[in-house]
Amino acid sequence: MTAQILNGKSLAKKIRGEIKQKAAGIGNVRKPGLAAVLVGEDPASAIYVKSKEKTCKKLGFHADTRRLPADISRDELLAVINELNNDSKIDGILLQMPIPEHLDKFEMLSAISIDKDVDGFNPISQGRLFLDIDGFIPCTPRGIIRILKEYEIPLKGANAVILGRSLLVGKPVAMLLMRDHATISILHSRTRDLSEYTKRADIVVVAAGVPNIITADMIKPGAVIIDVGINRLDDGSIAGDVDFKAASEIAGWITPVPGGVGPMTIAMLMENTWLSYAKREGIQS
Ligand code: NAD
Repeated sequence: MTAQILNGKSLAKKIRGEIKQKAAGIGNVRKPGLAAVLVGEDPASAIYVKSKEKTCKKLGFHADTRRLPADISRDELLAVINELNNDSKIDGILLQMPIPEHLDKFEMLSAISIDKDVDGFNPISQGRLFLDIDGFIPCTPRGIIRILKEYEIPLKGANAVILGRSLLVGKPVAMLLMRDHATISILHSRTRDLSEYTKRADIVVVAAGVPNIITADMIKPGAVIIDVGINRLDDGSIAGDVDFKAASEIAGWITPVPGGVGPMTIAMLMENTWLSYAKREGIQS
């Protein structure tokens, strides 16, 4: 069997096109606005923020990036977040992680207005997700579910295994899959035998950050494989967490890396910002 590709890149392009069209259709009224707060000099974070800024520009959104020094104090950072909370040009605020250790991550995430929390990391947004109450859903998990739905992968009753239990990916994905009536197992670094679970799974979502942690012999024939991992290999290339070539011979569907989940994350950030904008402006989203 050769797996079909779940093409996140083309789906993300389609979604960005739809948002761009909607944003262009609003005429002269104010544009949707996304603020990114970057603390310190982490190179990967700087690249992520730059690419979010670029996507904003492409879609006709207003982008406001705050690049702040690594030694910024708690009060100074809270003041920046509060300023953005009260800025009428801004519909979404993201605080790029990681932030320096002298700052309390959850205090800062909690300071972001719940109505502008387009990354969905404010603990109240996370709680809403847990309680199945409407709210912003973190972008990577939301992108994963969107891919599955776009390709009409049956979720109801499906046996879904999530490898990784992070707040960023594993836990919210589990909540969302359960919301769609999948039966879930969450595996992590202390799980005794990963393949005992993955071999029975209809859907495997892999978010461990370990290249080749999922190999072909761990997959049920025809299974759906969602590879969230982004790993830079010694030769400089980017790889996911799945042995893509061999797994493609066994799986029914698979996301490539790059070109799978990654592009969906930014598309969902833009969609969350658009939804926030539409709600604040009282227009149809
Ligand atoms: P994390 O380090 O916070 O969590 C990793 C999880 O994997 C942990 O729960 C850990 O228990 C589990 N794990 C690690 N090694 C394991 C092992 N050997 N056996 C079993 N479980 C193991 O990472 P994260 O933030 O969830 O990110 C995971 C990966 O996804 C990373 O490669 C990251 O770069 C990538 N990522 C991609 C996107 C995207 O947009 N595509 C977004 C977020 C994260």
